[in-house]
Order: sequence, then C-alpha cells, then structure tokens
Amino acid sequence: MREQVVPGILGLPEGCHAVKRIVLTGYRGTGKTEIGKILALAYAVPFLDSDSLIEQKTGRSIPDIFHEDGEERFRDIERNVIATLPAADAIISTGGGAVVDPANMVSLRKDSVVVLLTSDIDTIEQRIARSPRPPLTNLPLHEEIAEMLDRRRQHYHASSDFCMDTSGTTPVAAAEKIMSMLKNGIPSAAARADGLAFFRGGRLPAPVLQRLEQILNTPPADPKIRILGVAGYPCAHSRGPGLFNRLFTDFHLNNYYTFFEDPDIGRIMQVAKAMDVKGLSVTIPFKQDVMQFLDEVDEHAAQQIGAVNTVVFACGAAIGYNTDWLGVRKPLVHLKGAKAVLLGAGGVASAAAYALMDLDMDVTILNRTPANARALAQRSGCRWAAWDAFDHIHPDLVVNATPLGMEPDTRSPLAEDQLYPDLTVFDLVYTPPITPLIERALATGCKTITGTGMFVEQAREQFYLWFGIDITAEDLRKYLP
Ligand code: NAP
Repeated sequence: MREQVVPGILGLPEGCHAVKRIVLTGYRGTGKTEIGKILALAYAVPFLDSDSLIEQKTGRSIPDIFHEDGEERFRDIERNVIATLPAADAIISTGGGAVVDPANMVSLRKDSVVVLLTSDIDTIEQRIARSPRPPLTNLPLHEEIAEMLDRRRQHYHASSDFCMDTSGTTPVAAAEKIMSMLKNGIPSAAARADGLAFFRGGRLPAPVLQRLEQILNTPPADPKIRILGVAGYPCAHSRGPGLFNRLFTDFHLNNYYTFFEDPDIGRIMQVAKAMDVKGLSVTIPFKQDVMQFLDEVDEHAAQQIGAVNTVVFACGAAIGYNTDWLGVRKPLVHLKGAKAVLLGAGGVASAAAYALMDLDMDVTILNRTPANARALAQRSGCRWAAWDAFDHIHPDLVVNATPLGMEPDTRSPLAEDQLYPDLTVFDLVYTPPITPLIERALATGCKTITGTGMFVEQAREQFYLWFGIDITAEDLRKYLP
C-alpha cells in the first residue's frame, strides 16, 4: 500500500489550499493510533499522538493527570500541546474529547484535513474494556460510551472533513480506505458532472463558475476540498459567499462557499448530497420545505420553530439546525423578561418568537394577516393582537420580522410618533444596514439593534456547527463583505 507522494503530504495541485496534515479525531477505541501509524508509514511522515505528547511533556500518565489534577487541568495541557503541534507534514491523532474545545479546532483545522473515525458502541467497548483510562462518568462502560458519543456528536461532526467507520475493519484496510478517499474524493465522476451541470444552469458570476469547474472537473484538481453554499431562490444577493470564503482563507480551511440557486429544493439537496457538500445555509423560500429532505432535525428547529436554516452533512447524514433564533436571542440577552412586540408571523418571526420566549419575555405578535399571528402565537405560547394594537401595549422592545424596509422597499412598519426613547428597536431587515425604521428610531432616541446584529450571530453559529470554531461576533464582523 505504499504510495508515491509528491512534495507536500497529499500532493497539492496549483491554486489549491495547502493541506499539510491529516488529523484523526474520534472516540477512544475507534483506531486513531493504529491507523495513524500506518498512514504515517505510508506517507513517510511523522506520527504525532496528542495523548502521548501530553504524557511526555508532563512525565505522567493520563490516568494520573486525571486522577491527581482533574479533567479541567488535563484539557488545559491538551490545549497547549495541540496549539504547538508542528505545522509541517504529519499524521496527528487527537484525544477523544479534544474536538469539544473550539480553540483546539482552530489549531487542528489549520492547513489540515480532518478524518473522523467512528465505530459502533459494542466495538468501542470491546476495544477499550481493558484500558487503564479513568471513566468520564459514573455510568457502566457501555452506557458511558453511548452518553459521551451523544454529548460529543455535534463536535465530532463539526470536526469531520471525511468520516470513516472502523467497525469490522482492520487498521490496514481502514488506512487504505482513507488514503483512497483523500486521493479520489467522495463524489463519483457522474455526480461531479451533474453538479457542474447544475451550477452552469444557474446564474453564477463567471469567476465563481470557473472556481467550481476547477473543483468539480474529473479528475478533480483537489479531491479534498469540501463545498458549502447558500440554498435559496433567489439567493444571488446573499452575503454568505463573501463572508465564509474570507473566513476560510484566514482560518486556512480547505473549503469553498457558493450559491445553490434553484426553484426546487429537492434538486438542490440531491446535488448537494451527491457532491458530498459539507454544509448549506438555507434561505427563502426553503426553510420549511428543506426539512423533508433531512435525516435528522435538531430539537430547537424541529419543535416550535418548524424551520431549518442550516444543514450539516456528516457521516452520510443531513442534519438540520436553526441558528436564526440564536441570532435574535444573543443581542437581546440583556432584555430578559421584557415586554415585547413582534411584527410579522412568517419564517423568521417564528424563530424570533422562540428566542423571545426563551428569554422569558411577555410577547405579543402583530401581523398583517391576523390569522397567521394567531397561529404563530398558539404554536409559540405568545399573545397576538390586531396590527393597530401597538399603541396600547407600550412595549420595552419591538422586533420587526416583516420585509418592510428591505431594499428597494422604503416603508417603515411603525411611524415616528409610535416610538419613544425607552423603547429598543430591533429591525431584522439588514439591507440596507440602516433601514427606515432604524432611522426613525435613532431620531426618536430609541436604542437600536440592526439586522446585521442578527446576521452576524446566526452566521457565527453556522460556522461553529460546520467547523467547531467559535469566533466572536466582533471578530466575525471584520469579515463581512
Ligand atoms: P416570510 O416568511 O415571507 O414572512 C414575512 C412576514 O412579513 C409575514 O408575516 C407577512 O405577513 C409579513 N409581511 C410581508 N409583507 C408585508 C407588508 N407589506 N406589510 C406588513 N407585513 C408584511 O419572510 P421571513 O423569512 O420571515 O423574512 C422576513 C424578513 O426577515 C426578511 O424580509 C429579511 O429582511 C429578514 N431576515 C433577516 C435575517 C438576518 O439575518 N438579519 C435573516 C433572514 C431574514 P402575512 O402573514 O400577512 O403574509
């Protein structure tokens, strides 16, 4: 299985991102050490195991560190060791819990391809039953593995560029399969051709199409690059590509974010799955319809919100999340328990209602079509009223979740004389950045939060779900196009 490797561990075609390291993540007993050593031999590069490096550095065994200093201290040492791993060609194996720490993900993802190793619970139990490692819970081993896999699942998915189930395979067979995946990529030539036809049929700017042709041609220029994108109709106005591609460059991630613009979400999902896309942002009009094409939906999205704006593709599954509600919630945490009016009863209003209720607010929904306000109020446990009831409520907060004021519309949902200085106005519309409503609110002395505040927070959550990297809202703003 020895492979001829050109300079750079994985043979880097011109114009492609410089992947220097293969990082193996996954629970204990999934084969990271054995498979890592075989890969290191095959690629003729060093093998580095973060747990062994911790033992060397401290002169103590990991059970001793856990026993004497506790898990928190162990995680500190682990973070330092991972941050100082060499940037040069290497195979790196990480401890099973390393992926939970976002700082580790920044270090491990840099110029690297991350392969998540998985196994079924029985196999893991068999492989680690005689290990001297201390337990992480008070549960019996089988239950502990199930519990920890469940707790870390989202982090493992965020850490996976490629996924490999090692149950029932030998380490050599698993290593060979990984090498083949990294050499050839996951999508078939037919899937790449179909993907290209999809993008050529859209209205992508020429440089975007050129980049996609480079990625999707057969043989592919770089089979390790994973595509992400915004799915909507229309979505050519989206700020996603500008934002995420800048983040990919700065965080040294081998990914490309593009537009999936098509009237049929079924077709988008079929192309995305066949091309082994890593993630999608979902926008108007697909936030509800996309749910029928998902294997799983996160509880927040599935429960009262009933809409998905983020899809993570990992280990063969398409998993839906909603980050819109967090985008509304985070800028409002200081207003917990406030009296709020929510204008609108559509998709984003549904996420906003969930966020406001989560902050224990007293929420009244006002909407152009009262029946829709009533339906959302019943679903989310809020009050509802006719649109003109605003002046009788005297809220602390008003959230605009209608498109009023969104370019080219220049209307404001509220008149200036309906606003007052101790009111906080949160306009979810973000084009233009200062809407007619925000302009009026500023003129009246209200506190204001713009739609960019929501966009930044929800995009930050998406980045975390896809890559496990937790960037601050302040830092993310620097990348906005
Ligand atoms: P949606 O599902 O189409 O819902 C629109 C809502 O606005 C409905 O309740 C609708 O009332 C109401 N509405 C529409 N036109 C109106 C008008 N002329 N006068 C009064 N009410 C009107 O749209 P959505 O997905 O919820 O998006 C709403 C807005 O949120 C978007 O326009 C966008 O600007 C903003 N948004 C912001 C972000 C961000 O990150 N900041 C993200 C996504 C969306 P009916 O029930 O009567 O139809």
